[in-house]
Amino acid sequence: MKYVNANLTIHSALGVGVMLVLLGISFLLMWLVLGGAGLVSSRLLKPLLVLMAFCNAVALYAMQTYQVILDKSMMGNVINTDRGESMALFHPKLLVYLLVVAAASVVLFRYVRIEPQSRLKKFGHLVLAVLLSLALVYLNSSAWLWVDKHAKMIGGLLLPWSYTVNAARYLNDQKSASLQLLPLPELSWALADGLPVTVVLVIGESARAQNFSLLGYTRQTNPLLEKRDRMWVQTAQACSTYTTRSMECILSHDPSASRLTHEILPNYLHRSGQVQVLWRARNWGEPKLQLDHVLRGKQLAALCVAPDCKHPDQDESLLAGLQTEISQASHDKQLIVLHQAGSHGPAYNQKYPPEFSRFEPACDTVDLKKCGRQALVNAYDNSILYTDHFLDQLIGLLERQTQRRTVMIFVSDHGESLGEGGWYLHGAPDMLAPQEQLKIPFLVWTSPSFAQARASKSAALASGTGQSSGSPAALGQHQIFHSVLGALGGQSPIYRAELDVFQMSR
Ligand SMILES: [Zn+2]
Repeated sequence: MKYVNANLTIHSALGVGVMLVLLGISFLLMWLVLGGAGLVSSRLLKPLLVLMAFCNAVALYAMQTYQVILDKSMMGNVINTDRGESMALFHPKLLVYLLVVAAASVVLFRYVRIEPQSRLKKFGHLVLAVLLSLALVYLNSSAWLWVDKHAKMIGGLLLPWSYTVNAARYLNDQKSASLQLLPLPELSWALADGLPVTVVLVIGESARAQNFSLLGYTRQTNPLLEKRDRMWVQTAQACSTYTTRSMECILSHDPSASRLTHEILPNYLHRSGQVQVLWRARNWGEPKLQLDHVLRGKQLAALCVAPDCKHPDQDESLLAGLQTEISQASHDKQLIVLHQAGSHGPAYNQKYPPEFSRFEPACDTVDLKKCGRQALVNAYDNSILYTDHFLDQLIGLLERQTQRRTVMIFVSDHGESLGEGGWYLHGAPDMLAPQEQLKIPFLVWTSPSFAQARASKSAALASGTGQSSGSPAALGQHQIFHSVLGALGGQSPIYRAELDVFQMSR
């Protein structure tokens, strides 16, 4: 409450909306836990309430005394702290908090009687309460943007969910990090037939197909890419609506697996010793990398120097020094992965330099009520326009590498909602996910030498610009692994030619 108040005018319509959404979420979680426990046995309720109250007291004390936010990393600290450290944090003030709770518990046990009820009745009440809480959250959807932007803070402040959920998240992360991914079978290579190869895989962020003029959007958001030859453009289906899961789909070989079981593409290629793999990211969420060359935001920004690179805090820094990396590649085969910040919301206007603000007025706040739908779409479209520029720059750079065959593959991690049906941003649960969050652009550009070498195998990719007709049934992120492997000439029992876009005949 204090946090919301400090960051928002509580009396504004948005402030009220945010408070209602937070209340809705709190009630929802509370009902689910208590209702669930009540269904098992009414006797569980009192001890559970007391336990929660004691934990809340300690958490509240820590938050107020040390200004800590009980988010995932903080719970990691708490779990890993030894006794000496935790005793050092103790202060008599904590006793006051605990005494208040103890007194309240005594009252609860002695004077509050929980009426026994039939299980059916309890279940009915639970369903009703959950529906009401959901309605409260849904009716205030305009406040979601704010809640989403501040989710990390709120998630760390909302008691008792901050420490329980975040402790569970931390432990779960620990578990998945320690899970050993299975190695894929050893790679062999097709005989080299001429020039060395560089494949650049660009992973977009929140770019949805619907707003690409290459894919039929009436606004010209891809003026530069539209002029490029040897472009293959398609609308594909994202496997999820959030980054971490989609990254697994993009980088794994098995389209049917519901979670990651085997090593990912860049690690597989690197382990073979035959491919130089470079990873450059202005974003997060990929599975664990086992690579020698990984560059992130700050390192890339440091490489970004004028006149070639003008905006160190934008995606163009992913291209800084890349020309040299390719011309001095250590291996005949090279894979470069560029993970964009792309169009991540809600502050779309911060994802492009001012000169790309072509669609005006562009929303410059996360308070929807202040800018309205058109301004929101304008800001989003400007970010796509900047991605168009970014990809065009990259293609220009690859085109100059005449001593190598080069390929660029662009795929977004997921789409984005811009208010359609009351949805914003992304991350909707699979069952409810609207198409805007799932339809993504899938673009391929090939250099003349690459296209030529492949011409006999695939007419579509060599045939020039524009959308190819008769798109295959299910184009998706699971094509990436096999397409990259195929483009590099890798041979493996797990390679599937029917998933390789360079092999697909149409
Ligand atoms: Zn994402």
